[in-house]
Amino acid sequence: MNKLFMSCEEASHICDKAQYNESTFWERLKFRTHILFCGLCKKHSADNHKLTEAIKQSKIVCLDSKTKSEMKKCLEQELKNQKL
Ligand SMILES: [Zn+2]
Repeated sequence: MNKLFMSCEEASHICDKAQYNESTFWERLKFRTHILFCGLCKKHSADNHKLTEAIKQSKIVCLDSKTKSEMKKCLEQELKNQKL
């Protein structure tokens, strides 16, 4: 019998979709209810969340260094303009 609204298989599928913001509000709500009663999916979700956070963090670092080099270019350009 399914644990409340969905099977573990479906829960894991929604968890993966949620990672890419592809899940609907209703799916996330059902998923949250499921993991309240299912330790296995709760663990899977936590692991998935950690992975997503790690990816997000690395993306922020990438963006930051790019922004930094853009800012440096702008600053150098400004300095050149001031000299002229
Ligand atoms: Zn489950």
